[in-house]
Amino acid sequence: MIKTAHPLAQYQPHRDKIKAAIDNVLESGVYLLGPQLDLFESELGAYLGATHVVGCGSGTDALVLAMLTAGIGRGDEVILPSHTASATVAAVLLCGATPVYVDIEPNFYTIDPSLIEGACSARTKAVIAVHLYGQAADLASLRELSDSQGLTLIEDCAQSLGGELHGKKLGTFGDFACFSFFPTKNLGSLGDGGAVVCKEGKFLDRLKSLRQYGWDRERVSQQAGLNSRMDEIQAAVLRVKLPHLSQSLEDRMNQASKYLNGLAGSSLQLPSTRPGALHSYSLFVVRVRDERRGKLIKFLRRNGVIAGVHYPVPAHKMPAFRNNAFLPVTEKIAQEVVSLPLYPGLKDGEQDRIISTLLLFSGGEDIQPARN
Ligand SMILES: *Cc1c(COP(=O)(O)O)cnc(C)c1O
Repeated sequence: MIKTAHPLAQYQPHRDKIKAAIDNVLESGVYLLGPQLDLFESELGAYLGATHVVGCGSGTDALVLAMLTAGIGRGDEVILPSHTASATVAAVLLCGATPVYVDIEPNFYTIDPSLIEGACSARTKAVIAVHLYGQAADLASLRELSDSQGLTLIEDCAQSLGGELHGKKLGTFGDFACFSFFPTKNLGSLGDGGAVVCKEGKFLDRLKSLRQYGWDRERVSQQAGLNSRMDEIQAAVLRVKLPHLSQSLEDRMNQASKYLNGLAGSSLQLPSTRPGALHSYSLFVVRVRDERRGKLIKFLRRNGVIAGVHYPVPAHKMPAFRNNAFLPVTEKIAQEVVSLPLYPGLKDGEQDRIISTLLLFSGGEDIQPARN
């Protein structure tokens, strides 16, 4: 079976170095907030072109830490897309704030800036731009809007590490940017991990304090913080993999081009890239008319290919996050998206097989191009 993502394939090439790095940490006797995390934070900062990086326990925690640091809490509203991972929405609620959903751009699947002003109220404090699937949100418009409305701009970069807009790395546009190192992401740890990038150095102490009980230097809690420290073991693993990130992004982009070329004649709607952006293809998502999606996924499975759906239920339709937002693009797309296997380590022959299977399916004349 060819899976949508394959974390083992992203461990195997680095096996010996990772084992040695873990062993070093084990023998060092320092397991939290030690030299590996310090080094990882500065190496990630150098990669991104960002000065202030704080490692933490997960991408979800990174979002919570960013919002708490920005002073967002009970009574505040945060604008975000509903077409995102549950984690983005959960983080807003964990801070005590209220999510306000806005629809997405039909071609790029990221938040539609033209709808944000209408969603603002006197209580709006922040906008979360999710660079979904590795695609850059419309950061120029979002930055301008946030500045004019006095909002904190938070980038959810969980799926977009390595992506760029106009030659600048995603994660360097917002007041805060949040990364996840979940094993299937562009840079995966062997467990959980996350990081917050903050634009202004004045927030650094507060971020670091919040990740550890809200402690000050005397270990006196000045505010209610969390426990969200990145393990030294995970930091050491990430330090082995970070120098290979550019290569693995290149693999992702090559596989994406191969899909784009191979499926150009099919009736699947293929992903497009925002002008000026470098799509990092955390996921390769095609669209098929809703009534055909179930059949397509079953057909692929019968042919040894497991496709994913990111995401079948929009957040505003989930029991935990439900509200009566009217989001026609989000609701339509949720019924049409299919994530094809794409990961460093996917073999050329496997991808050929996926493409020919898809062409075989869409050769049936009952499959129609999905339109907005
Ligand atoms: C994975 C993901 C997160 C959460 O990251 P975790 O490390 O799993 O907590 C947040 N937002 C998006 C868009 C994600 O894909």
